[in-house]
Amino acid sequence: MASNQDTGTHRLATRAIHAGQSPEPVTGAIMPPIFQTSTYVQSELGGDVQYDYARVSNPTREALERNVAGLEGGGHGLAYASGLAAIEGVMKLLSAGDHVVSEENTYGGTNRMFNHVLSRLGIEFTFVDSRDPDQVRDAMRPETRLVHVETPTNPMMRLCDLQAVADVAHEGGARLMVDNTFATPINQRPLEFGADVVVHSTTKYLNGHSDVIGGMVVVNDDDLAAELAFVRKSTGAVPGPMDAWLVLRGTKTLAVRMRAHNDNGMAVARWLQDHPGVEATHYPGLPSHPQHDLAFRQMDGFTGMVSVELGSGARAKRFVERTRLFALAESLGGVESLIGVPALMTHASVAPDRRAFMGVTDGLVRLSVGIEDLADLLEDLEQALAGA
Ligand SMILES: *Cc1c(COP(=O)(O)O)cnc(C)c1O
Repeated sequence: MASNQDTGTHRLATRAIHAGQSPEPVTGAIMPPIFQTSTYVQSELGGDVQYDYARVSNPTREALERNVAGLEGGGHGLAYASGLAAIEGVMKLLSAGDHVVSEENTYGGTNRMFNHVLSRLGIEFTFVDSRDPDQVRDAMRPETRLVHVETPTNPMMRLCDLQAVADVAHEGGARLMVDNTFATPINQRPLEFGADVVVHSTTKYLNGHSDVIGGMVVVNDDDLAAELAFVRKSTGAVPGPMDAWLVLRGTKTLAVRMRAHNDNGMAVARWLQDHPGVEATHYPGLPSHPQHDLAFRQMDGFTGMVSVELGSGARAKRFVERTRLFALAESLGGVESLIGVPALMTHASVAPDRRAFMGVTDGLVRLSVGIEDLADLLEDLEQALAGA
């Protein structure tokens, strides 16, 4: 766990580059070195050492933790081996008999962890549509310890009013955890709206180059951070120093990359919305989005994530197999554009009836709009839709 002392007064694009980092003291190296070591030599037996074993702490990892904590405006960051490991690291603060209220339309792997792993261990879940804070309130029980939401959701781009749901969670004596993977701290900082825990799959936008699996938790509360650090060192899902360094390299360009993703995402969403071959376009930045006002209240930009309804699985298949620049692949948030059919890919592990309930039809196509030239992206979508 690394504490962040220098959130400071700098703005986000400056923090992305400088937060949590200072020149290496021996050589003045401007980049934090990759401390590729498992252990640290101790100068005396039983002395008070800052570093003793790399599962517990590693300076490269700590630089990344301070950096992302700085971007989220949080006091502490903890890095994990993956986004799911980060979520699991928070869930392991709970005990058998505790209850969680979760958004129903989360990342498929989160849903699978809750339903097929953690529920076996005696943690109970109620799934709700967190667009409606009253649904969250109605699901709260005396033993509810945590409310978990994603906003925008994957892949339906539905929003949760963070301030309203934080209030509901706190009234019920629970904490609010927000998966901020889709929005990134450039576009949305949940701690500012009362969230207690922010989680990320750094695999996505934060790293941004499709070459690392990683996760991050950011919190403000010192005791909560210490509890999380205890669980992490006791269970072990830490990232290696090389991966931590790669993500840190990625976050330096987060502000400029997100500006480009936001611009391309908005332009592609507008274009798709006007295309006769598209039945519906889901993007919070469009005035047609049912929660457009909320989007403008709690977000500064709307990312490169867009989903469209093509009406049938057959059309969706033809579309995603015909794009050339948009690569058919899982994942999102890299500089390159990706395309996929959630029902058969990211959400394949979600039961068909639950998928239908969530609006994830066989004809729904999700795009992760990259930062290539917009005209090339639109030409690619045009030719692929013509063939679909
Ligand atoms: C990818 C993703 C995860 C899981 O992260 P991994 O790094 O793949 O373990 C969690 N939440 C969201 C929103 C994601 O997109």
